[in-house]
Amino acid sequence: MAKKLKPLLALVLSVFMSVSTMTNMYTVRADDEITQEEPIVEETQTEEETTEEQVPTVEEETPAEEDEAPLVEEEPVVEEEQLGDSNMMEYFLVDNPVLSNGETENFVLSLNNAEGYSDFKLTIQKEDGSTFDLESSEQVDNLVKFSRVFTEEEKGQYSVTTLHYVYNGHSYYLNFSDLEMDVKFGVDQEYDGYDATLPDLTEDSISSEGVIEVTDVNKAEEEIVNGVASQPATMSVDEFSRHATGGMTICLDPGHGGSDSGANAFGAKESDLTLKIAQYCKEELAKYDVNVVMTRTTDTRLSEEAAMDLKNRVEVAKKAGASYFISIHINSAANSAAKGAEVYYPNTSGNKNLSSNGQNLAKAIQKQLTALGLYDRGIKIRNYTDGTTSYDPTSSDKDYYGVIRYAKEANITGLIVEHCFISNKEEFDKYLGSNAKLQQLGVADARGIVSALGLQLKNQSLDTLAKDNRNVLADGTYNIQSLVNPNYVLDIYGGYTTNGANVQLYRSNDTEAQLFKVTHDSQGYVTFTNVKSGKVLDVYGGTKKNNQNIWQFSSNGSRAQKWIIKPDGNGYVIISALDSNYVLDLSTGKAVNSSNIQLYTYCGSNAQR
Ligand SMILES: [Zn+2]
Repeated sequence: MAKKLKPLLALVLSVFMSVSTMTNMYTVRADDEITQEEPIVEETQTEEETTEEQVPTVEEETPAEEDEAPLVEEEPVVEEEQLGDSNMMEYFLVDNPVLSNGETENFVLSLNNAEGYSDFKLTIQKEDGSTFDLESSEQVDNLVKFSRVFTEEEKGQYSVTTLHYVYNGHSYYLNFSDLEMDVKFGVDQEYDGYDATLPDLTEDSISSEGVIEVTDVNKAEEEIVNGVASQPATMSVDEFSRHATGGMTICLDPGHGGSDSGANAFGAKESDLTLKIAQYCKEELAKYDVNVVMTRTTDTRLSEEAAMDLKNRVEVAKKAGASYFISIHINSAANSAAKGAEVYYPNTSGNKNLSSNGQNLAKAIQKQLTALGLYDRGIKIRNYTDGTTSYDPTSSDKDYYGVIRYAKEANITGLIVEHCFISNKEEFDKYLGSNAKLQQLGVADARGIVSALGLQLKNQSLDTLAKDNRNVLADGTYNIQSLVNPNYVLDIYGGYTTNGANVQLYRSNDTEAQLFKVTHDSQGYVTFTNVKSGKVLDVYGGTKKNNQNIWQFSSNGSRAQKWIIKPDGNGYVIISALDSNYVLDLSTGKAVNSSNIQLYTYCGSNAQR
């Protein structure tokens, strides 16, 4: 197989700069308590038409990411570890930001709910790229402790990169970097970015020996929480996630569910129809550059109490950092002739921007729905005090509908889309009677969203770049040399064949651990498969950001494993299919053994050629 060409592939070099916003935080809270304030007023169904809306809900909270789970083939063989749900974590804490050899470092993971969780393990990476796993040493209630003594030989800077765990028999992982949690510590030295002047957030919660007082966990936990809550620098994981995703997030809310089926007619339940419409809408939006979360993906409600159901739905949007909350409904009326589509948006009270954003979006969705032939009932606001509706958004009253009102309180634009009437036989047959018809409604909603929010198709420019550079390098087996010194090549640490083995630079030694098979897919994207391991170059956690590590992983077809090889000066740059601004990069800028390979923004310096 070894067709050994040695093209000069330039690794983009840049000075390693430890730009870290988070390095001094040792405790990160995942979440605030959900405040359970009473709804201002109970929703009453005083209207003739537009009946349903505010019905309540279900027992368990549906994790917002549930429907975001990657598609996994049903292979009964050995289950691959899957990306977990960060909501499982309340906070993670490092005892000693800097410790001396011989001392014990402790890590504490606090779970929101320990039920069903087991087999906790951390992956810890040293600055040289080497990693080791650390299994939990004890667990009491929601607290899980990890401990390890470091020796003199282990002096250096470390990052906790990954949490592994088993939930209900399935293996999951969470990358701290995905959560923008920069969890670092140093042994016999400070780590880059360490600032001794910042307060140690853990001092009140952990004894001077660095051990959880497991005999009094509740107290310890309480102290930790109190200690953390008093630190203004503390941010929640949600805030990190929001910050990390960058793009816009939209929350789709399939109305009703579980014990609340909404309106029923002709053998159909509104709750089933709204779920399908929302799923079709999400499927269409997946083509665009937008994050979509759903308040539910099964036949369930988020509380058995009506107002709490609605609050919890908005809470899903809030946690996901959504800008829009779009509640999907089917109308119903005693008068079987009632027909048509209508969309409710926020009035101007309290927040005029949300009202005008909502009006634009409502208009765009209504335009798509009426284009399907639905009668135009208009876009409306509805006021709280007397339940009046209006085509004029101006009002000093609160919004009538709970989801719109709660969304406004969270600075989210909330809409209710009443697609058509389930109680009208003609509309039922024409718009609700089959999956294809429901899809039509979901796609119409999506098109309205795309046009109002100016969403772009995903990866359009990257696809063009991949296509244009398809012929730069022929399929074959290559050493990938650094232009800094062609005697140094990409190498799999230790020649390991396992998932997660680090990719580094190493002096060329003619082993298969340094040979990569270059293949192009139909779009022109390149995959680099290590000849020895059969694993491919992969961006850690699928997250594009500076200093993000590159490792090898089983091929899964994701964009984190696709690349574009583009000529650059006397060599080439290897661009990530996640983002054309990010390229393979030599972290030290020097051709020395074990220099780490990472992702970094293209900077166009001479060192890149
Ligand atoms: Zn409804």
